[in-house]
Amino acid sequence: MEVFKSIEPLQQALQKFKCNNKRIGFVPTMGALHKGHISLIEKSRAENEVTVCSIYVNPIQFNNSEDFKKYPKTIEKDIEILEKAGCDILFLPEDKVMYPEPPKVKFEFGALGNIMEGKFREGHFNGVAIVVSKLFNIVKPDNAYFGQKDLQQYLIVRQFAKDLSFNTNVHAVPIFREEDGLAMSSRNVRLSAGQRELAPKIFLALLLAKTLLLTKTVKETQEEIQHFFTPYPEFKLEYLEVVNKETLEIVSSVKDNKNLAVCIAIYLGDVRLIDNLFLFS
Ligand code: AMP
Repeated sequence: MEVFKSIEPLQQALQKFKCNNKRIGFVPTMGALHKGHISLIEKSRAENEVTVCSIYVNPIQFNNSEDFKKYPKTIEKDIEILEKAGCDILFLPEDKVMYPEPPKVKFEFGALGNIMEGKFREGHFNGVAIVVSKLFNIVKPDNAYFGQKDLQQYLIVRQFAKDLSFNTNVHAVPIFREEDGLAMSSRNVRLSAGQRELAPKIFLALLLAKTLLLTKTVKETQEEIQHFFTPYPEFKLEYLEVVNKETLEIVSSVKDNKNLAVCIAIYLGDVRLIDNLFLFS
């Protein structure tokens, strides 16, 4: 695997592949890699001749400075993992490469952007869209792979890639889970042993919500899920929403509506975790 820290040598290397009509697949990440990230790399490898991964902890997408400071960094291990996974190129830029000056552009995503993560993490998706569009412009991938775990992020990236005529197809990859159901996340390493034991309750809550929604309204389901966490004061539920999984429109009833996802954001101690589950799939 070749590692590039600056843009020009990366683009020179990519140009050779592009001249030979090789398809470029791209997996942007913030590092602290786990099997969820690797499933994206594998999907890219299956669909492209060349796979590029980027690792960059993007400061402008953090709305909470503690979260940014505590974001896990395991770059040596990440490089080993990527080598093993068969990634061809790693782009590992520093802040001055990505942001020679602070960006001033502001994105607006309409209905996709002002609920759930957009509502509770002000400025988050603006930061995501800036870094992803810069990375798309740098790498110019044919295909880019995003996790369904960050459903709202995937939909927003897919939308702005279309709106801005990026020549990149944006794909979603299913959520990769631990055996006990916990969605893999770089932030999981910040959980204490006790919190880690409790963490699978997040997925259990989604499964419970899925069952409850067969007979109850969304509001009743939200109340029951709040109840479900009451015995465990380390959890603080931020939201549980039922949304159309393409438009993110919030629904209050699942009746006659087959295209839905139930999405959750919850604090476990001071670690904020998100997860989601498609209904009727
Ligand atoms: P991150 O490094 O957390 O920014 O994630 C980089 C990419 O990996 C994003 O597209 C995430 O949605 C995706 N991802 C994170 N966790 C998982 C998971 N458990 N399963 C599948 N994809 C994931």
